[in-house]
Amino acid sequence: MIQKSRFAPSPTGYLHLGNARTALFAWLAARHDGGSFVLRIEDTDRERSPRQYEDALLEDLRWLGLDWDEGPDCGGAHGPYRQMERQAIYGELYQRLLDSGLAYPCYCTPEMLAAEREQQRAAGRAPRYSGRCRDLDASARAAMEAQGLRPSLRFRVATTGRLRVADLIWGEREYALADLGDFVIRRSDGSPAFFFANAVDDALMGVDLVLRGEDHLSNTPRQILILQALGLTPPRYGHLPLLLGRDAQPLSKRHGAASLRDLREAGFLPQALRNYLARLGHHYAEEDGRLLDDTELRQRFRLEGIGRAPAHFDLEQLEHWQAQAVQSMTTEQLAAWLAAELAELAEPEDRRAFVELIRPNIHFPAQVRDWLQRLLHDPEPDPEALRVLRETPEEFWAAAAHSFSAQAEDWKAWVAALQEASGRRGRALFQPLRAALTGRLHGPELAGWCALMGSERCRQRLAQAGRWAQSSAPI
Ligand code: GLU
Ligand code: ZN
Repeated sequence: MIQKSRFAPSPTGYLHLGNARTALFAWLAARHDGGSFVLRIEDTDRERSPRQYEDALLEDLRWLGLDWDEGPDCGGAHGPYRQMERQAIYGELYQRLLDSGLAYPCYCTPEMLAAEREQQRAAGRAPRYSGRCRDLDASARAAMEAQGLRPSLRFRVATTGRLRVADLIWGEREYALADLGDFVIRRSDGSPAFFFANAVDDALMGVDLVLRGEDHLSNTPRQILILQALGLTPPRYGHLPLLLGRDAQPLSKRHGAASLRDLREAGFLPQALRNYLARLGHHYAEEDGRLLDDTELRQRFRLEGIGRAPAHFDLEQLEHWQAQAVQSMTTEQLAAWLAAELAELAEPEDRRAFVELIRPNIHFPAQVRDWLQRLLHDPEPDPEALRVLRETPEEFWAAAAHSFSAQAEDWKAWVAALQEASGRRGRALFQPLRAALTGRLHGPELAGWCALMGSERCRQRLAQAGRWAQSSAPI
């Protein structure tokens, strides 16, 4: 049973797709069990965390369909939910560690530390803090302070012993404590180091499940040491395998998807993204390829369904879910989604009829705009459509216009009359008609199209088709 999980982004840019997946998994895992969900803003990197990114982040998460019970916008019992507003809380904990000797001030400058690492590397050893300030006595410290040096705070790690860390996805790993080295928990400018704030916040906020990227796997032992030292209960951790592009490179714009915002702006539906992301590195038992609604997505989500292999983002697969999401919407939802594109259609009835008509032909709002243009404003035929118009003899166009005049309000009767008069049927009949009426060779069902277009415009297009057929405009 999971009581509470969380998403803890650093707002240094737009929500990356990998992080969106992490957020979704954490949310699904919590909601699966009726647990609660926390949004915590890890803004300790002050220069890189302007508020605009936080606002964008909340907006993008909401758009994706996530909600949270505690967070910077709605508060909660364990706030504040921005780390830079939690300094007083951290201050008390630092003091406890100092008092118990588990933390100590380190006066080493960045240059000294870099030189130390260089030497270790040259000697073929893994870089690790040497422990230079570990045992400074009070007078040595006072001397450093007198020089105006501002110390960082380091956590004292035992030099012997081992630590076992369980991971929900990777299983159990064992670490030699001596390999960890004393690490910084408060930077010299007073801001909390990631290891520290991240770990204590999870514990203080009552989080019992942390799902996060594989890049954090090696941070876990240090975080557990901090929590043990403070007598706090660590959450269970699960590290999600990387999300890569189809070519196994880190995701970028090149793959058509760096951020969630890119996809949103391209016209993808949140329902499509939820369905796709929930299957990226997670396998639904009894997968039947069906678009799942929110309840199904979370009820069927299982931590055991998360694999260890890197997941590969594939735009084509996402488009498959987009097509399914478009199909699954009600007429009203479709009309609401496309409201901006449909603005030129004044009558709600016409909008409903139009979206139903083009539903099979569209995945994105931009395509709707194109079809509506074709419906309302005489379109120039596509090159293939123009070719068909030219290949169709003049007599056909004359017959079409003639039988249309006689049967304008009755599509079936018109087509039957034209079939009779022209001797054409099937594709030979419908392809030129489609080219004339829509300017393309593929598209929505013609009877409905004509009904929406109205008989006057149909008549004009048939007449225009004859003219196009005779024109010598280059294809
Ligand atoms: N702020 C960290 C990140 O965005 C959080 C890692 C975690 O979820 O623990 O990578
Ligand atoms: Zn030092």
